[in-house]
Amino acid sequence: MSTETKTIYQPLYENIKKYEMFINNEWVQSVSQKTFPSVNPFTGEVWAEIPAGEKEDVDRAVQAAKTAFETGEWPKLHGSQRGALLRRFGDLIAENAEMLAVSEVVDNGKLIREMLGQVKSLPGWCYYFAGFADKIHGETIPVEVPNMINYTVREPLGVVGAIVPWNSPLLLTLWKLCPALAAGNTIVIKPSEVASGSILELSKLIEKAGFPPGVVNVVTGFGETAGAALASHPDVRKIAFTGSAETGKLIVKSSADHFARVSLELGGKSPNIIFEDADLSNAVNGVLAGIFAATGQTCMAGSRVLIQNSIYDQFVEALVSRTSEIKLGNPLDMATEMGTVAFAGQHQKVMNYIEIGQQEGARLLYGGKRPTREDLKNGLFVEPTIFGDVSNDMRIAQEEIFGPVVCLIRFETEEDAIRIANDIQFGLASAVWTKDVQRAHRIASKIKAGTVWINNYRKVGFSSPFGGYKASGIGRENGLYVMQEYTQIKSVWVDTGNIIT
Ligand code: NAD
Repeated sequence: MSTETKTIYQPLYENIKKYEMFINNEWVQSVSQKTFPSVNPFTGEVWAEIPAGEKEDVDRAVQAAKTAFETGEWPKLHGSQRGALLRRFGDLIAENAEMLAVSEVVDNGKLIREMLGQVKSLPGWCYYFAGFADKIHGETIPVEVPNMINYTVREPLGVVGAIVPWNSPLLLTLWKLCPALAAGNTIVIKPSEVASGSILELSKLIEKAGFPPGVVNVVTGFGETAGAALASHPDVRKIAFTGSAETGKLIVKSSADHFARVSLELGGKSPNIIFEDADLSNAVNGVLAGIFAATGQTCMAGSRVLIQNSIYDQFVEALVSRTSEIKLGNPLDMATEMGTVAFAGQHQKVMNYIEIGQQEGARLLYGGKRPTREDLKNGLFVEPTIFGDVSNDMRIAQEEIFGPVVCLIRFETEEDAIRIANDIQFGLASAVWTKDVQRAHRIASKIKAGTVWINNYRKVGFSSPFGGYKASGIGRENGLYVMQEYTQIKSVWVDTGNIIT
C-alpha cells in the first residue's frame, strides 16, 4: 500500500478492464461468454466488462463449493487453521486497502475519503471472526433418561449463498464471508450487477491468501438470472441476502422449495430524533452524516429527521446553512464531500421522489435538482435535498428513496416522537439526540428498530449485532450471535450401560 498522501486518486485501469469470475480457485468467463458493462457514475464511461454468469455458472460454483465442503481440504482443517487463513486474508486487505477503495469508488461513486476509512476497518472483521474459528463447540447436557450422556456438536451448514447489493459491496461481503468461513462453511458470492468490480478485486486476495479450491467462489451476473439461480439452488443451505425488501420476498419464496436458511438485511427509513435539549451542533453533524454520507445510499440512512417543535426553525436554519457548504465533486478527490448516485436508474428514482415530495406539498428547503456545474455534467449527481414540514404519511416519508433526500418532521412531545418514529413498515436503525440520559434510554427501549444510536449516528462494528425489525429484515449480522446463523446443532445420545447411575 502506498504511504503517499494523495489529493486525487486515479482509477486502477487505463483501459476497459475485462474481468473474469472466480470459481474453484480458477478465473473463468461465463459459460455463455456473455458480459455486461460497468459504468463509472462520475465519468459516465464504461470502465469494466463483467461476465454475465447464469444458471450454468451458478451450478458450477455451487458444485465446487459442495465438493470443497464434503471432500476437499477444507473440512480437514482445524478451526485454528481456518482462523489463520482468515487472518492472512485480513492482512492482505490491509496491504491493498487503497486499491480496494479505489475500485469501489469507480464502481459506485462513493467517496474515496469514506472508502479509505471503511476498507481500513475491514481486516477487523477477518480478525474478529478468525478468533471464533477454533472456539465453536457444543455442550454436555444433563438428561433425565438413565444411563445416557447427551452432548451437542455445532456443525457448519454447508454451501452458503451470499447475495450483496451495490452500495457497500466490500463491507457487506465481509459481513457474510468471515462468519461463514470461520464456522467451516463454503460460499458462493453473487455481487450486484451495478458494482461487481471491488468484489472481483477482493477475490484476488482470497486466491493469494491460500484458501483451498471451491471454498470461496464469486459468480457475477444479474439478479433475475444468477441471483435467482443461487437462491433456488437445492444444494445451498443458507442464503445471506442484503438488498431491497422486494427482492428479499423473492429470496424467501425460492428458498422455501429446499428449506434453506435465510437471513435478510433489507431497507430502512430510519428516524433521527432531535429533542430541544440536544447539543444542536452535534445533532446537525449527525443529521448530515446520517443522510448525505454515501449520497444517502445506505440502508441505515437517517432519512426521517424528527425535530421538536420548539427548536424546529433554529435547527432547520443551521441544517440548511451547513448543507449549502457541502462540496460535490470527483469522488476520487479527497476534498469532495458528496459523490454521485451509483447508476442511472437510481438517479431517476431519486429525482422522481423529489418530484413526488413537491406534489405532496412538502416544502423544498434546499436542493432538489441535478447540479448544472460544468465539471459535474457527466456525473449522476443530485443536490443534497431537504424537505421541510413533511407529514409522516407522505410517500417521501414512508418509502425508501435511497438517495440524498431528507424529510424533516415536527413533533411536540416524547410520545409523539415515538409514535411517528414507529409508524413505518421498516425498523432498521434510529437515533435520539438529547442530554437527558433517562429520556435517551426510554426512547431506546421503545423504538422498534434493530439499532438505536444515542447522540451519534451510523456507527457499526464487527462485534455488535446489526439487522432489522419488521420489514427491515430477518436475522442479524456481526457479533457473537451471528455464529449461530452459520452453524447447526447436532444432539448425540450415548448409552453408557450401567456405568452411570
Ligand atoms: P436489490 O434487491 O435490487 O439487489 C440486491 C442483490 O440481489 C443484487 O446482487 C441483485 O442482483 C440481487 N437480486 C436481484 N433480483 C434477484 C432475484 N430475483 N433473486 C436473487 N437475487 C436477486 O437491492 P440493491 O438495489 O442492490 O440495494 C439497495 C437495497 O439494499 C436498499 O433497499 C438498501 O436499503 C438495502 N441494503 C440493506 C442493508 C442492510 O444491512 N440492511 C445494507 C445495504 C443495503
